[in-house]
Amino acid sequence: MKYLNYKGFQTQSRTPDVFNKFDIEEFFDGYSSFFKHLPSGIADKISSGYASDWDDISKKIKSEFNYICQQCGLDLINNKRLLHTHHINGVKHDNRKENLKPLCVDCHSKQPNHQHLFVRHEDTQTINHLRRTQNLILRDDWSAVFKLADSALHGVVDLLMEYKLPIPEVGYELEASNKTITQIELAWPVRKIGIAIDKESARNAIDEGWEIHSMRYVLNQFDFLAQSLR
Ligand SMILES: [Zn+2]
Ligand SMILES: [Zn+2]
Repeated sequence: MKYLNYKGFQTQSRTPDVFNKFDIEEFFDGYSSFFKHLPSGIADKISSGYASDWDDISKKIKSEFNYICQQCGLDLINNKRLLHTHHINGVKHDNRKENLKPLCVDCHSKQPNHQHLFVRHEDTQTINHLRRTQNLILRDDWSAVFKLADSALHGVVDLLMEYKLPIPEVGYELEASNKTITQIELAWPVRKIGIAIDKESARNAIDEGWEIHSMRYVLNQFDFLAQSLR
């Protein structure tokens, strides 16, 4: 946990709390991008508690809101799979209309008590791509970085803020000969420096002359990254 700067394990003084109150489901919620499958036991809980006509109710709500995430504004009409219907008060069988709203999987997974929600890294990347094409990505704002970044990166984002480093772009799409070749989770395009989660993205960017670091490197050698970004 120190390694991941989990909940500020390294940077904040509430270390004993993070340790004593460690919740395996919450942990997998945040770091799901690193795992291909959830441990059994967590996955089993996912579909319990819904009404039998839930699928129809959910579909109706999504279409009434025109397949737009009510938090980030993302239009998912062509990617309906990435849109969920969320119970605002957290009660899964309370299907009154005012208790339901569509959220993209990314915004949904960041709601309180959504430990059960597993988002694949590819899906986070697709959502970032769509947000970019729909001009929903704001720059120059740390809170936006926090909201948009994969939650596995929050420990790194905390450190970047603490060191007062330049604000990165989230889900930066690297182009070569007018084609997007890869997506970099956190990027400083002017300096050609980035932090990538998967090895293939890293390799593609390195081929284009970028300096790419893994989370592991960044958390171990933060001072080096800080130096190259200053
Ligand atoms: Zn959203
Ligand atoms: Zn929900």
